[in-house]
Amino acid sequence: MSLILKNLQISVDKKKIIDGLSLTVKPGEIHAIMGPNGSGKSTLANAIFGHPKYTITKGKILADKKDITDKSPDKKAKAGLFLSMQNSPEINGVTVAHFLRVAVAAATGENKNPFAFHEELKAVMKRLSMDPSFAMRYLNTGFSGGEKKRAEILQLLLLKPTYAILDETDSGLDVDALKIVADGINAFHTDKTGLVLITHYNRLLQYVVPDFVHIMVKGKIVKSGGKELALEIERNGYSKY
Ligand code: ADP
Ligand code: MG
Repeated sequence: MSLILKNLQISVDKKKIIDGLSLTVKPGEIHAIMGPNGSGKSTLANAIFGHPKYTITKGKILADKKDITDKSPDKKAKAGLFLSMQNSPEINGVTVAHFLRVAVAAATGENKNPFAFHEELKAVMKRLSMDPSFAMRYLNTGFSGGEKKRAEILQLLLLKPTYAILDETDSGLDVDALKIVADGINAFHTDKTGLVLITHYNRLLQYVVPDFVHIMVKGKIVKSGGKELALEIERNGYSKY
């Protein structure tokens, strides 16, 4: 059991951004990918999620031995991978509650009783200190930065994927919101879930403690280590890489 990125090469508009990136994430592990602006972190996340602009030109993505490299986002979700709501468009007329119910049904293949679903939705929203009215807002329409991040964690806690890749979930959050989001991520994480946190700063990693930290520069992992590596980056920056 593991999520395996095997020698990935990724291009955007025919420009090679990621070249030869490999990473194995086992259930129970938290990996952090850190790197300077433009090093290709979001490109990696977007390509894994199957964003049409990002092409995997070489390598493989395996989720529990299943090759999902070229699978559609819903097949990837079924294989246990988390697709964040950040990548979904604003949809006027579709409420957060409706979207989440459809997403959960698509990922799990089962249609939950609507009452049970709304009870769970209410409980998770409470845990994330979200106002119940948020469930009736239209998807991503006029969401503030903080609301988007919380909505992403809400989705994570309802979908209960095996593997989640969170890109800059901490950016733009004030301290209180950061703690709530971190608490949500920690609630998601068990010995059965693998987590990849893509982040610029050590800030989130103070609350969600990684087992492994990888430094990414120019589309490659140039160094891997433990959580102390994140502290070193905070002190000294990326210049030596
Ligand atoms: P990071 O997330 O590490 O800051 P990105 O993955 O966003 O880095 O960007 C890596 C490189 O890929 C940059 O040079 C960026 O301009 C380019 N890139 C990423 N996405 C696109 C896109 N949609 N169109 C054109 N270039 C892109
Ligand atoms: Mg980015």
